[in-house]
Amino acid sequence: MRPDAFWSEVGPLLGEELLARPGSILYSGLDTLWRGSFYIMGYNPGGRLDVDGHGGSIRSAGLHEGPWSAYEHDCWQESCPGAGACTSRAADQAICPKVHQRRVQVIARTLGRSASEIFSANAIFARSATADALDTGLSGNATVEDRCWSVHQWFLDIVRPELIETLGKGYGRSAFRLLMDRANVSEQDVLKLGLGGATDARCFPGGFSLGEGREELRAIVIGVPHPSRFQTSAASLEEIGEIAKMAVQGVSLERYQQLTEGQRAIFHDGVLRPGQSS
Ligand SMILES: [Zn+2]
Repeated sequence: MRPDAFWSEVGPLLGEELLARPGSILYSGLDTLWRGSFYIMGYNPGGRLDVDGHGGSIRSAGLHEGPWSAYEHDCWQESCPGAGACTSRAADQAICPKVHQRRVQVIARTLGRSASEIFSANAIFARSATADALDTGLSGNATVEDRCWSVHQWFLDIVRPELIETLGKGYGRSAFRLLMDRANVSEQDVLKLGLGGATDARCFPGGFSLGEGREELRAIVIGVPHPSRFQTSAASLEEIGEIAKMAVQGVSLERYQQLTEGQRAIFHDGVLRPGQSS
């Protein structure tokens, strides 16, 4: 997709008031806006607005053609310990990535991809230093959440992911919570991975209405602990890898839950096919 085609769709959905706010949309290259198995969703762009490059409007945010990931190629350091001249194209992989970025890179590898190979965008495109500091209001009855969701409905209909990975799993302000609400899923319906601890992930199978004329999306949503605060447990990462393999083979989460430990191990090796049982 060309940038002008992207903006001609996204611009009217967001509206001028929101487009003028600080923020950004894509955390992966424009080429990832295509059919893909996975979809990574954070909550909203973070960082102080007075730091270089953070005050730019959503409308002026760069779109990258070719392989790129904000989790690999952006320098998020307030004062870069590298050459000090980092740009979004020239972050030093050895020095620049913050722990949040490195943890997302690990999560991408758990899905068998690099971060730049997975479509990534925040649930909310407006930037704020913290999630609680985000102003979600707009003039009239519009909300930032609804405007951004209308763009995600377009994205999701293009990507049609089998698995959506949210960065953060909280029941308060998080991408996980927003997707629970869109899918009408309650806390009782959310499954715990691993031991259900702070460093473990959560998941649910959800159905998402993508708007008029578009087929509903069925996808598994996995929320990992917020990467700036927690490293996802090894047990949860292993299970995420298994669920991802299963999801791309078209097996439901319900079916996965019925599998024995031994069968799950077979999934992990990638040889169990849909419908196969032992
Ligand atoms: Zn840097």
